[in-house]
Amino acid sequence: MLKLIEEIDEMREQRKKLRGKVGFVPTMGYLHAGHIALAERAKTENKIVVVSIYVNPTQFGPKEDFKTYPRDLDRDLAMLSAAGVDMVFAPMDEEMYPDDFSTWVDVEKVTDRLEGALRPGHFTGVATVVAKLFNIVQPTKAYFGEKDAQQVVVIKRMVADLNMNLEIVIVPTVREADGLAMSSRNIYLNPEERKTSTVLYKALTLAQQQFASGERDAEKLRQAMKDLIEKEPLAKIDYISVAHPDSLTELDKIEGSALASLAVRFGKTRLIDNVSLGS
Ligand code: AMP
Repeated sequence: MLKLIEEIDEMREQRKKLRGKVGFVPTMGYLHAGHIALAERAKTENKIVVVSIYVNPTQFGPKEDFKTYPRDLDRDLAMLSAAGVDMVFAPMDEEMYPDDFSTWVDVEKVTDRLEGALRPGHFTGVATVVAKLFNIVQPTKAYFGEKDAQQVVVIKRMVADLNMNLEIVIVPTVREADGLAMSSRNIYLNPEERKTSTVLYKALTLAQQQFASGERDAEKLRQAMKDLIEKEPLAKIDYISVAHPDSLTELDKIEGSALASLAVRFGKTRLIDNVSLGS
């Protein structure tokens, strides 16, 4: 039976009673098959699985979609119950961020680039809420999607730097049949935008193919992705990157592996995606 917990004290009480490994999947809800893949992986590796559903206000910029971010708790609970999840932690803003809240987790350097450069403060919000959730849930392992590649780098850095006592597990991106990475924000796309949004994965696949054929000039790969995406008039590029997989700095020549990532806007909807090159 799935248990819904909305208060921090209650989550702590329940946690104290648990014996054995606890797998934890932090989400912002409006779940899809990508989230369920994380929960299912957690289920294979732990005795108990806890999923959090919390649209964290501090990771949204003032002009971003915090207010309109899709929410449907009943639907989420039905999906998690079907997936065999044990507990859902869905805290309230007032408890997570009381009026006198004043402590932030700021991961430097790897947050300067890509998403961090375009969304100032975003990763401070992410790292802070994830640190809070780890402290409340105290998981053995926590599960994150490759879809948000920079988030993975930031969370791993935070866990290492602050000596957090848990293991981070990364799960591959789940895609729609036409290649679009699943995202709660995909519902914002109108039919025409939805159709053209497949260009993100097409561009990343093109980079993968060129890499597989021996191309190691990162700028050529960036240019090939750019040329393909610019053929779509509805697509507005925020960035196209071929970067070092750990430092996330842009590469000239690829030695070993690289992370190809991009952010593209379709109308008001901003989509991100990435693939690994060479690993
Ligand atoms: P979100 O609810 O968007 O904050 O995502 C919660 C977790 O699910 C994060 O670790 C995401 O990286 C992961 N996630 C989101 N979309 C996907 C996807 N298509 N495939 C795999 N994991 C995903």
